[in-house]
Amino acid sequence: MGTFSIAIHGGAGTLVKGMMTPELETKYREALKQALDTGYNILQNGGTAIDAVEIAVKHLEDSPLFNAGRGSVFTAEETHEMDASIMDGQTLNAGAVSLITGIKNPISLARDVMEKSEHVFLAGEGAMTFAKELNYILEDANYFYDDLRHKQWLEIKDTDSFQLDHSLKKDSKFGTVGAVACDQEGNIAAATSTGGMTNKKWGRVGDSPMIGAGNYANNKTCAVSCTGSGEFFIRGVVAYDVSCLMEHRGMSLEDASNEVINKRILEIGGDGGLIAVDSKGNIAMPFNTEGMYRASKSSSGVEEVSIYK
Ligand code: ASP
Repeated sequence: MGTFSIAIHGGAGTLVKGMMTPELETKYREALKQALDTGYNILQNGGTAIDAVEIAVKHLEDSPLFNAGRGSVFTAEETHEMDASIMDGQTLNAGAVSLITGIKNPISLARDVMEKSEHVFLAGEGAMTFAKELNYILEDANYFYDDLRHKQWLEIKDTDSFQLDHSLKKDSKFGTVGAVACDQEGNIAAATSTGGMTNKKWGRVGDSPMIGAGNYANNKTCAVSCTGSGEFFIRGVVAYDVSCLMEHRGMSLEDASNEVINKRILEIGGDGGLIAVDSKGNIAMPFNTEGMYRASKSSSGVEEVSIYK
């Protein structure tokens, strides 16, 4: 039995001082710890990496604290449009959804696309029809309503600006969630889920549901879940870039992740972070912002729940 491990994130960015009270910080830490433990328990009981990342992300989607599932930000039309993707590093199977509404756990719908359809990526109305065929129950707008997120939206509605979650200014924090895991068999997987950006319009889709950009897994190299300025993460093909540096340049997980987050993505103007594991259970969690909600745990004794650097 090899080392097994899991890492999760709840978004990266400038965590505005003054918005974070000690009580709120405790809530974030507790939510991260719970999601982490739920995923870790699956691995400890011999479960698969793909099950562990799905369950950890579901946990984060159910929390109003993060910009995914229940806590998703408002679009320009005062609705919620969510994106998610999941990838299995053993088979290279993947599933993704974007622009979906009313689905409690977008990550499970992404997994259903992977396992119950012939396709990889379903979007908008078609994805919703697929969900209905699978008898998904739709939540109403109240389930997704959150005072703070509604206030953020009111501040910029009727303008052309859109912003990353939870900010006073454009440059604040992102709240996308993700998980990566390595199971006892050395199989790895990645999952990412988001509500995108406040006041987004025109069917804007970020990196989170794009295989290779915001999410990627391959047993040969790594499993990666990203958070940050999606447009830049798409152009940098960030998650796959980490994998390529490992595969073609022989870099370690740590070095490849750092190279991408602290050099390559910065060079094109992107900010954010990622979490990654390899099939030996190593973990990397670099970010180039002030903070990133993150947590990790491995059978070799690593355990961390952190927000700032
Ligand atoms: N990457 C996400 C997006 O652009 C945002 C985030 O990470 O919070 O949709």
